[in-house]
This record gives sequence, structure tokens and C-alpha cells, in this order.
Amino acid sequence: MILTAVSKANGLITLTRQHKRRELEEWRRSDNFFCPQCKGKLILKVGQVVIPHFAHISSNDCSSAFSEGESADHLAGKQQLYEFFQSYYPVQLEAVLDKIKQRPDLLVNNRFAIEYQCSPIPKDLFDHRNAGYKEIGIKPIWIIRTPTTLQELSDGIQLFSLSKFQQLFIPRRPLIGQTLLTYDNTNKSFLYASHLLPVQQNQVIAKIRRLPIGSQQFPFLLVNPPTKRELKIYEKIYSSKRRRFLSSRVLTSRKGLKDRFLRNCYMFRIRPEELPSFIGMPTAGSEIFEGHAVEWQANLIFHVIENGMEDQSLDTFINRQPHLDRNLAWAAVNNFLLFLDQLGLCPLTPDCLRKSVPVEILFELITPHFLAKRYEN
Ligand SMILES: [Zn+2]
Repeated sequence: MILTAVSKANGLITLTRQHKRRELEEWRRSDNFFCPQCKGKLILKVGQVVIPHFAHISSNDCSSAFSEGESADHLAGKQQLYEFFQSYYPVQLEAVLDKIKQRPDLLVNNRFAIEYQCSPIPKDLFDHRNAGYKEIGIKPIWIIRTPTTLQELSDGIQLFSLSKFQQLFIPRRPLIGQTLLTYDNTNKSFLYASHLLPVQQNQVIAKIRRLPIGSQQFPFLLVNPPTKRELKIYEKIYSSKRRRFLSSRVLTSRKGLKDRFLRNCYMFRIRPEELPSFIGMPTAGSEIFEGHAVEWQANLIFHVIENGMEDQSLDTFINRQPHLDRNLAWAAVNNFLLFLDQLGLCPLTPDCLRKSVPVEILFELITPHFLAKRYEN
């Protein structure tokens, strides 16, 4: 299913919502259409369910590689976005980029490749396409179709899960400070999940905001940072998830005596639920470690109390998690130690584990991380 064709009578044509059904039916009788990519013959389909589109008459590499697998949602969204970008720049729908053998949904001003992604895409293919665009100096902008889980949320501060696939579309790691931009072709509106704060595994807290396509601009509008009142909601949700994690942590231990976290708590004579609130804060980059931040941060504090804070000691700590990106792990560890230092808790001693700092103060230190960076086109 494609929207662009070469017509015998009219040259390159793109179907938009401006074309009336009657007009298209007439056109179908009087003209011939060909694929801009493979030059194969196309038919113009004007049906009831899917918006009017072209389809290859005979299946070939082109039809399977580029367009025929597309859903009605993808086709409709692509068309809506095409009309949106047209008010700013020249746009080519399904442009053929011969040099890299790629065909973005939209090519805006020969500078931006817009990909409206409705179905999961393997990470390799995602990376491959981005590399292709980079090679020819085009900036890709991926917009995923608003996931159902997000559609159900009302505007405001919300807790929800993002799959690994959805996380691909958050520009750059770390998650903190980033925005996921989605588009919902059914409601013709953008949905932003901005100021993402990782909680645990795939769970994040974010500010949800809808923007009808008629109110959007390009470069895309940014979501205002959370207000004081909204930050309180982040704090409340985060703290309650942390409490829940800790109270269930003893029950979910599967490693018995080898469970480093529980063994450490036992050695330092502290119950997991009693760990002070500055342990388990979403400091910048902390989501690189698996599970809840409270676990690796407590383990780090126990480790530093026993082995000191020199590079070699920290290196040993990081090496215990062989699957991590070392640079990101180092950054996360340093950010957390800096945070402890700002609280006046360094050098770390067993007494630290009995100190309490009000949660509001902790969040005041954290917020600059996820407020600083904003959506970049
Ligand atoms: Zn073709």
C-alpha cells in the first residue's frame, strides 16, 4: 500500500485527503500508474475500509520490501503527517533514496526523514536505517504510533511501562531528561511522554501531554517542564514504588544466601525497608543497572564502606556486573556518589545507614537531571 505513484498523464502524484472519492474513481478509469521505485504497474484502490492508496499488481521484491506490509493505520498516519509537514517545507512521500536503498515515509526539505512506525522493528534494522540516513546527511525523526497503554492515560504525571521496542525511540540514552514522541492517527493528535523518570525495569514516570495535529508546529513544540505541583506527584509515585519494592524484596529472593543485597543488609543489621531514603534515588543514568536503583545503590554503599572509594575499589564493584556498558556504569556510579557528597554523607561510614534526609530535599537534587534536556528534533 503506497500513496505515491508516477502517472502517465500527471507525472509524480501523491494521494491526500483533498482528493475526492468520485475524482479518484474517474482517475482510475482514465490513467495508468507506476511505482516510482520498481516502475511496476500499480492499481489505485478506492475502498471503504482503508484510505485510497496504490498497490502493486504483481508482487515483487519492491512490494514486499517497502510497502505492501503496511497497515491501514500506517497509511493514514503517513498521509496526515504528509499534509502537516507540507505547510512548512517541500515534502516527498515515500521518497526513493537510491544511494542508500531506503524509502522513508516522508522526506522533508531533503533534510529530515520522517518514519511513522506502527509495528515493532528489530534494533539492527533501526540502527541500519539511521546509519543510512546519516551517511547521506539526512536527520531521521522517528515517530511511533501511540501505544495503546499510553492512549489510555489522561494528561498529567503518570506511571507506565515502555517495552524495549518503544524505548528505542527515546532519543539517546540515558532515559533521564528525554521525551518519547508518539502520534495517534485515529485521534489525529501527538502524544508526548516527556521528562521521563525511570523507576524500575521498563517502568517510567512521565508527563503525558496530547497535542492535536492542528496545534503542532515544526520544529516540534516542547512540553513545559513539570510544575512544582507535578513534581510532587513524581515524588509520591516514585516513593511508593520504592517502598513496595523493598517490602517485597525479601519474598522475591531466589538466590538464598548468595543474595548479595539481602546478605549485606543482614551483615549491616538493617532491614531492607529501613534503608534510608537517599538510597534508591533515580540519580542520572541509574537505570543502566538492572532492577530497582535501591538495590545497586545499597550494594555500592556497603561496598564502599568496606573497601573505600578509590577507583580500584569502584572498578571491582562495576566488574561484578559484566554485561553493563562500563562507561555508562561508571557515570551512574559517579553521579550517585556525587549526590551523596552533596548531601554531606561522604566519607561513607556505617553510621550513614542510620541517617535520614527528607524526601523533598532528595528530589530537589534529582530534578535538574530530568528537567535539563528537552526534546530535540
Ligand atoms: Zn514498486
